[in-house]
Amino acid sequence: MNNAIFSFPLPNNEPVKSYLNGSPERVTLENELKRQSSIQLDIPLIIGGKEVRTGNTGKVVMPHDHHHLLATYHKAGEKEVKMAIECAMEAHKQWSELEWTTRAAILLKVADLLAGKYRAVINAATMLGQSKNFFQAEIDSACELIDFLRYNVSFASKLYAFQPKSAAGQINSVEYRALEGFVFAVSPFNFTSIASNLNMSPVLMGNTTLWKPATTAILSNYYLMQVYMEAGLPAGVINFLPGSGSVIGKYAIESPHLAGIHFTGSCATFNTLWKQVGENLGNYVSYPRLAGETGGKDFIFVHPSSDAKAVSTAAFCGAFEFQGQKCSAASRMYAPASLWPAVLEDMKKMVKEVKMGDVCDPDNYINAVIDETSFDNIASYIDYARNSKDAEIVIGGKCDKTKGYFVEPTVILTTDPHFKSMKEEIFGPVLTVYVYKDADVDAAVELCNTTSPYGLTGAVFGQDRVAVQNISDKLRYAAGNFYINDKPTGAVVGMQPFGGSRASGTNDKAGGEFNLIRWAIPRTIKETLVSPTDYRYPYMKE
Ligand code: NAD
Repeated sequence: MNNAIFSFPLPNNEPVKSYLNGSPERVTLENELKRQSSIQLDIPLIIGGKEVRTGNTGKVVMPHDHHHLLATYHKAGEKEVKMAIECAMEAHKQWSELEWTTRAAILLKVADLLAGKYRAVINAATMLGQSKNFFQAEIDSACELIDFLRYNVSFASKLYAFQPKSAAGQINSVEYRALEGFVFAVSPFNFTSIASNLNMSPVLMGNTTLWKPATTAILSNYYLMQVYMEAGLPAGVINFLPGSGSVIGKYAIESPHLAGIHFTGSCATFNTLWKQVGENLGNYVSYPRLAGETGGKDFIFVHPSSDAKAVSTAAFCGAFEFQGQKCSAASRMYAPASLWPAVLEDMKKMVKEVKMGDVCDPDNYINAVIDETSFDNIASYIDYARNSKDAEIVIGGKCDKTKGYFVEPTVILTTDPHFKSMKEEIFGPVLTVYVYKDADVDAAVELCNTTSPYGLTGAVFGQDRVAVQNISDKLRYAAGNFYINDKPTGAVVGMQPFGGSRASGTNDKAGGEFNLIRWAIPRTIKETLVSPTDYRYPYMKE
């Protein structure tokens, strides 16, 4: 037993590499893109450290070239979910009792492996499987993922050090126990870093997981699982279970040993999981912890004192990077009539400049949306706007799924502040704008606050700092991540802890102590040095 008190100071954020033409990182990544494009993997389940093949398979294709098969994957059924629960419970015995610094060492090794040897592998898989360009993959599957791992180790050391005081004659302490059971980690397609963190933050606190990856992110998630194992993660600590969410969810949630759900994805899915847990209450060993980050209808509010160029740049990047498939993506904007013509003109220029296509061509700023279901859903919103008397498509609007699932960056202008696309999450490159009269700024702020059920991210623009403060106060509950004179996307671990409330989730702030504490059940221990032997109060002895 090593009795050192380890110190893990806050790390520096992983630097974002430039991928300039001819740079070593660009050459390595291009070679890896070629390698992964020329093979077809057969992706198994990984349960208790062993590969399991069920023969019930699905396909992994490139969203930007959907005839190109990257892999087939095996799907878990009832038997495999039950096997995974057994393995997770068995692994829990040793993992939860290990010195926490041993667990931390494995996470830090994963971070170092991904920062070096496997950076190109994880970025290439994220680019090809999830259709991210060089930059979007680098900030997600390399940098944010690594930051989550390193920061959480530092946050955990702070958390474990948080102890109660002891009076004379007693010793008090809090033991941060792992949850009593397994954690069900259910991850979305859009961030490889989130998929990792949904597992690794509970795992750091001594828990074991059943991991249900998103079907459209299986390639990168499988490579990640292999890096975990190479870093020394013991068998059964994370059990990788691709397959149908409803099948895996049913058997995981029915288990009395379900101790928590760590979820990121849509509001509808989280509501289903929550209801299922409710239906099983009474069967559980303990109340499962439910932490879920869900959808958004993220806004940009433009005060008349704003710099139009700053607004158009933020709207363009916030709404269209990674095809608008960030939970934080700007999808509605409130613009004053005095500024809107300049903002629109500038956005038109930028959209004209950028190219859309394959991720391997670095000139393509815009790539494909994730799959056909998503493509059809986005196209249906655009068609709805095209056919509505209350809206007009002022930028883009074309969709083509012949080769890949391509949707042009699109701006809808509406005269109805409650228009469908001002309220509902679309999850694509579509920004809806409502133009208000400059004199009606207060009414427009009220609309911004009350139009959508979500509360994830939002931005306010303005040079009049007092007006900006008033608007920020009125929008206090409209966003869990709020930006002043910046786009509402691009939160960085350790700098802008992420999460929203209202219909956007439980706001446990991924990448911070608030999240880690959800995966621990504290035990308070009081030791009395000399135990009392007389029951009487002092005055009774007189
Ligand atoms: P999704 O809800 O469709 O899927 C998320 C995961 O849930 C997938 O692994 C899916 O297979 C699984 N799932 C689906 N039905 C299930 C069921 N009945 N039981 C168990 N698991 C089930 O979401 P998505 O399309 O992958 O991701 C996009 C959504 O995620 C958007 O709404 C976006 O806003 C949200 N998101 C939120 C954040 C955040 O931090 N707030 C971050 C990223 C994404």
